[in-house]
Amino acid sequence: MERVVYSDNAATTPISKNVYNAMLPYLTSGYGNPSSLYSLGREEKKAMDQARAYVAKSLNCEPNEVIFTSGGSEADNLAIKGLFFSGKLPKNKRHIITSTFEHHAVLYTCEFMERIGYDVTYVNVDEQGHIKLDELEAAINENTALVTIMAANNEIGTIQDLKAISDICHKHGVLFHTDAVQAMGHMRIDVKELGIDMLSLSGHKLRGPKGTGALYCRKGIVLEPLIHGGGQERGKRSGTENVAGIVGLGEAVRYADENLESSMEYVTKLRDRLIEGVLKIPYTKLTGDPVNRLPGTASFVIECIEGESLVLRLDLAGIAASTGSACSTGSLDPSHVLMAIGLPHEVAHGSLRVTLGEQNTEEDVDYLIEKITYVVKTLRDMSPVWDEKINGQPMLKLFDK
Ligand SMILES: *Cc1c(COP(=O)(O)O)cnc(C)c1O
Repeated sequence: MERVVYSDNAATTPISKNVYNAMLPYLTSGYGNPSSLYSLGREEKKAMDQARAYVAKSLNCEPNEVIFTSGGSEADNLAIKGLFFSGKLPKNKRHIITSTFEHHAVLYTCEFMERIGYDVTYVNVDEQGHIKLDELEAAINENTALVTIMAANNEIGTIQDLKAISDICHKHGVLFHTDAVQAMGHMRIDVKELGIDMLSLSGHKLRGPKGTGALYCRKGIVLEPLIHGGGQERGKRSGTENVAGIVGLGEAVRYADENLESSMEYVTKLRDRLIEGVLKIPYTKLTGDPVNRLPGTASFVIECIEGESLVLRLDLAGIAASTGSACSTGSLDPSHVLMAIGLPHEVAHGSLRVTLGEQNTEEDVDYLIEKITYVVKTLRDMSPVWDEKINGQPMLKLFDK
């Protein structure tokens, strides 16, 4: 049989067996409404409380500081819009600071806030994807209410110094939200130790179900709900709860939390083996911080190839990987993340992201290295740009200056 290697775990992850088993009763016999008074319903409420306790334990917060949502995007939206729409902030507090390379769930929410009259500053990152802390501090003014910076980047895997960021925020009386969707379940996060006021997470990025997520919101911070109605989630998020999904999310967090050290060690080893193999391809560079990066994330730019062609050919070899060099969007621009770390256009066009998980094996990694090396060579053999780079002479002169 043809080999299949799923190596796009930053896009989504397969539900684990334990998550599936935990959810199953709530898709069959456990269908009660958790708000009901009778026993079918109380059981569901209990299961949700357990899930909330697992999330709280992992983050080191109180269970009533966890609001379940429909995913990471909703959690990001709730943190940002909810804070400003609460009407509880002083009148002048209308300024948000974020970075240029956030996930679109944060970036486009901030752009929306600008359209309705709020001010947003987009702080730059360095070539490895670290927030420029001096720029961050300089951007804070007396109107600043919120800083929102992701814990770890979804394209290049760079992990931020969250403590340093929260220290700056709190020194100036500003709240700190972090999108930890990529980080959760892949590194230790203690919201108290790190000084995080709000944190977003998503179930399907840590082997839980899609359409589940949560926002941690520190006690005392008032949010206006995005969804009004029956008052579920202590009035912060109405709508009959996705009980099976919440149970699945809770189990995914519990499992990740209990196995974190061993899983980080295992996945990091696979990732480093992959990086070592791929960097043997000439004119190839690792993107992001070489050390402070997510355990599973291997991201590269490979010169003189086109990221989309590479990914499509890898697909033919049974490999699921991704690229930030999308032409399919109709724009020729590489992703905003690759632009933010200052890569020249022509280099950013050859980006490849391979994200591993604990379900991957050493054999998977060797297969990935073999196929990536082969496909890159094939693509370069057909490329006039490569020919010019290697021979100093264009194979075809396409354009005159
Ligand atoms: C996937 C992702 C999201 C969105 O989460 P969903 O649960 O898919 O809505 C937000 N932020 C980051 C960094 C992500 O990787």
